[in-house]
Formats: sequence, C-alpha cells, structure tokens
Amino acid sequence: MPKKKNNTFEFKAEMKQLLHLIINSLYTNPDVFLRELVSNASDALNKVRYLQLTQKDIASPELPLQIKIELDEEKNTFSIEDTGIGMSYEDLSTKLGTVASSGTLEFIKQMKNGDKKIDGNMIGQFGVGFYSAFMVTDEITVETKAAEGDGKAWKWVSDGQGTYQIEESSKEDRGTKISFKLKDGHKEFSKSFSIKNIIRKYSNFVDYPIYLGEEQINSKGALWHKSKNDVTNEELNEFYKFISNDFEDPLDNLHLAMEGRINFKALLFVPQKARPNFYRYEELKSVQLYSNKVFVQEDCKELLPEYLRFIEGVVDSEDLPLNVSREVTQYTPIMNKIKDVLVGKILGMIEYWAKEEHDKFKTFYKEFGSLFKSGLNSDFANKERLTELLRFQTTKSDDDELVSLATYVERMPDFQKEIYYLTGDNLKEMRRNPKLEFFAKKDVEVLLLSDPIDAFVVPGIFNYKEKPFKSIEKSDIDLGSDEDSQEDSLKGEELNSILDVFKKVVGDKVEDVVTSKRLVDSPVMLTIGKEGLDPHMERMMKMMDQSNPFESKRVLEVNASHPLITNLNKLNVDGKTEMVEAIASQLYESSLLLEGNLESPGDFVNRLTQLLTQTTSQN
Ligand code: ADP
Repeated sequence: MPKKKNNTFEFKAEMKQLLHLIINSLYTNPDVFLRELVSNASDALNKVRYLQLTQKDIASPELPLQIKIELDEEKNTFSIEDTGIGMSYEDLSTKLGTVASSGTLEFIKQMKNGDKKIDGNMIGQFGVGFYSAFMVTDEITVETKAAEGDGKAWKWVSDGQGTYQIEESSKEDRGTKISFKLKDGHKEFSKSFSIKNIIRKYSNFVDYPIYLGEEQINSKGALWHKSKNDVTNEELNEFYKFISNDFEDPLDNLHLAMEGRINFKALLFVPQKARPNFYRYEELKSVQLYSNKVFVQEDCKELLPEYLRFIEGVVDSEDLPLNVSREVTQYTPIMNKIKDVLVGKILGMIEYWAKEEHDKFKTFYKEFGSLFKSGLNSDFANKERLTELLRFQTTKSDDDELVSLATYVERMPDFQKEIYYLTGDNLKEMRRNPKLEFFAKKDVEVLLLSDPIDAFVVPGIFNYKEKPFKSIEKSDIDLGSDEDSQEDSLKGEELNSILDVFKKVVGDKVEDVVTSKRLVDSPVMLTIGKEGLDPHMERMMKMMDQSNPFESKRVLEVNASHPLITNLNKLNVDGKTEMVEAIASQLYESSLLLEGNLESPGDFVNRLTQLLTQTTSQN
C-alpha cells in the first residue's frame, strides 16, 4: 500500500475516482448507506458464527452476535457496531482501500464518459457499499478488532478525499464500529424514527438482533425457512436487494423446500439486468450456502453450473454437517444432488416463462442468453431441454421476434431436409447476404446466428428432430433443381471448358470448381467443402488466436445460367483467352471481397482498371 507519512495512506487511483463520483454525483437515495452497512455487519457476523463453529480460538467468544446502532440527535452523529469477524491491519487497507472488481472500473469509465446514468441505489453493485456512507458524512471512523490474529485493534479514519489514516485503537471487543457525524443536509439519520423505518424494511431477515439504543428493532428470521404463503412479494424483493446489492426488483424468484431423499431449502432470484461485470464469468458470484440457518460460504460454486451463474440467492441444507469446511463442500455427494435438483427447477421456471410469460423470457434471454446457451457445451444431461429453449432471429422473423427450433421445423416445407443457418456478427448485414437469395426464392427459412456464442454451440447440436444443422456457406446444399434458371444455361462441352478456365486460374486456391445448383443473381459464389469451417467462425478463431492455422479452402460455384458466364463462354470460343482468364480471377476475388477476406485489393483494382480500359477501347 502506498504510504505517505504519519500512518497516512493514499487510496489507489481508481478508488479515488470512485470516491469522487460517490461524493459528487450520487445524491439520490442516501438511505442506501444504511442497507449497505447493515449488510456488511450481517456478513461479518455470519463469518464469525461460522468460525466459532469450526474453530475454537477466537477473540471474545462470549460476546453475543448482534448489531448496535447509536444515534445522537444533538450532536448529529450515527454509529453502527457489530460483534462480527472484524478486520486486521492488512484487511483495512486491502478491503477498504481498493476496488475489488475490474468490472467496476470499466463501469466507472462509462459513467465518467456520461454513457451511464448513476444513482445512489447502484452503489452496492460496485462492491464498495461501505463508501456509500460518504453520501451523508464528510469523515468516517472505523474501529475494529479481528476475531483471529494478534489481538490488536485498529482505527481507520478517512475523509474520502484521497487518503486514510490507520493507528492502533483501544477497542476491547471483537468486531467493527463505524461512526460519523452527519452532513448538514442529512440530519434525519440521527433521528430514531427515520432509522427505525428504514431498517425495518430490510432487516427482518437479518439473522441477528439489531438494537437501536436498548430496543431491538427487527424480528429476526431466515426468510427461506418460512413457508411460501407467509412471505410477501415485498419481503422477497427487499431480501433480494439485500443479498445481491441490486437496486431493482428481481425478474422472478424460486422458493423451494425439498424434503425426502434430500433436504434443503432455497430462495433463488433472477435479476432483471446483467451486472456491470457480467461478462467476466470468472468474477460472477454464485449462491450463498447455509447449513441449517448457519452461513457457511458466500460464493458456493459447487451449487450451480457456470451457465446458471446469473442466479442469486441462498441455499440451506440440513443434510450438510454444520462444521463442513469449504473444501469439503466440493466433494460431498450431497452437493451434486442439490445441484441437480436446482438445475431442474431453474430450467422448469425458464420453460414456464417461454410458454406463459413471454416478456420475462425475452428479458432473460436478452440479458443472460449468451451465458445460458454455453450450457449446451457443458451440461449434456440437459441438452434436450436447453435446445428447446434456444431462440433465434430468422429470415422470417422481424428483429425482436425470436423463433424456437420447434417453430422453425414446423414451418419447413416438405422438400427441406436440413435446418439452415448463417453466422455473422451484424444482423443487418447478415440479412443482406447474397447467399440468402436462393433460400428466399425457395421460401426456405434460415436461422440468423448473430450472437458470437451461437457459432460455437449450434453446430454442436448436430440434429434437432432428426434434422441436421447445415450452414448455408456449405457447398453441398441441394433443394431440388431450379427450373427457371436452367433455360439459357451453359451445358456439356462449353460448360466444362469454362469450368476449366476457372480451374486453371484459381484451381490452386480453391478446393474445387463446380456448377452451382443455387445461384440466383450472382455469377459465382464461394462456399465451403464438407470439412471446412464457416468463414465467420474462421475469422473468430483467427481473432482469438492469431497463429491459428485454420484456413479451409473454398469451393467456387459457377452460375451456368448467368449472362456474364454465357458471355464469357462466347469470348472463350473466340479465343480471347487472356481476357477470359482475367475476368475469372476478378470474379473469384469479388467473392472474397464480399466475404471480407480479400487480402490484396491493390491487385484487384489494377486488374479491374485494365479490364475496363480494354472494354471501353473496344467501343
Ligand atoms: P462489499 O461488502 O460489497 O464487499 P464494501 O465496500 O461494503 O464492499 O466492503 C468491503 C469489504 O470490507 C468487505 O468485503 C469486508 O471484507 C470488509 N468489511 C466491510 N464492513 C465490515 C464489517 N462491518 N466487518 C468486517 N469487515 C467488513
């Protein structure tokens, strides 16, 4: 930690930026600071309770587990004290002096650029809830004594302007006391009735007594232990905000009480919006694990597969031994059983939305779809259920309509035997792809896979209702011959000699040159052979690994009925070989250009200039 002098330390740069924002930009909902401080105190108590059950030596073991709030209306002061786990000297600077998540930093940048609007409610999401107290005060004092360690107590003081001081303190009891004088505009937080009102909202599920002076102001109880009928929606929403630091109500919740071979209770929530750090999946926290109301672990990754990590909540099982260590949770078979049940129930909830609550489903799919779809590559036991939940934009859907595979297959004409898709990263551009012409003419729907994850999961499904998936980039697509375009077609010898010209000119660059069964308006088209990768996929793989050797050769399809090709045949018969070959090269490179894979535009343009000079000089 950067030290100045006299036990004064400097906050890291990003922390300073964040503090600046909190102090200068966050005015709305200042009472959020109370929720954050109570939530931190409750976490600290959870941790010490767990320590007490698993290990004998902790400071002041006889202290009751509780939270105490003291107010002084005369002096305008506020303090909150817990008998929780406390903080060591090290903790004070590492936990109170830095921003934990890199997603937070990105979010700060966006806010500074004015891309995101912020209000006080959002603070908890940043993992810096403690600092929200700077909304109502100019200087915070933290006195703390850790449950483990050297028995020393510390005092941390900061005005949130860039530095903080740490010195030894005379605090005797284990735990943390946070105190401050209120700013002029926020004196209401030194009045009992307003504190009582705010705290009652979300403290009834804090499992420790909260005292205001001598009076206990909450009726404690674990919400997930109550029966569904005894819990109101408002309580659920407040509980969700309390554990998740979210500022919006959840999209939906799942309240489970399983009894029988396996016993557990769970209260799970799906947020409405993905967190700022959502795309750093490794940073996503999973659900909290309790063992018979006693908190065991904050981020129990064993309880949910990665693709369901957008779920927040609590799982509480009496089947786990109380002193279960965090390492043991990884290996007990009970965890796997709970996980299986949870996955089944969560998928059930999503299936219900898909059927009955379309708006919920859409919100979910938009926010969490990419992560969710990755389940297809990892959760093979549920592959079928996950496949049924996939939704796509298609050539027959408008931009915010989503089509399921079941609907797609239902709409397939009898002659269509495969499920066609096109991958890409921009829907608008994809809709203009010339390869779609043929499918439109045949009235065959094509899935438009514009989410990057799609290109990785869809081909891996292989079949849906016995229909194989096929990229429209592939060469072996046959939807029956196209009568109209056959009339003036080149045939026999003439066709072969034109194909030979193409083979001579680009034969070493492509896998094969063939007559096309499906060209409509273009003279030639590049497709990929049986084993080849989609060009879009190929580009993505190259982006991920520059040294990637993937480069599948293309098949050049020639449109034997296109006027340019029939003209080319005439020139060929007339012996204008040089010009015919230049045009063949030009056609091949035009297709590369369309795909975004033309490497030497200079040669292309030079040849074009020559050809145009030749044609113009003939008239
Ligand atoms: P968050 O709670 O989201 O991690 P905070 O800024 O509120 O972010 O707190 C940062 C860290 O400081 C906490 O994770 C915890 O380790 C520590 N901390 C805060 N308050 C307390 C407390 N009352 N007792 C013990 N540790 C605390």
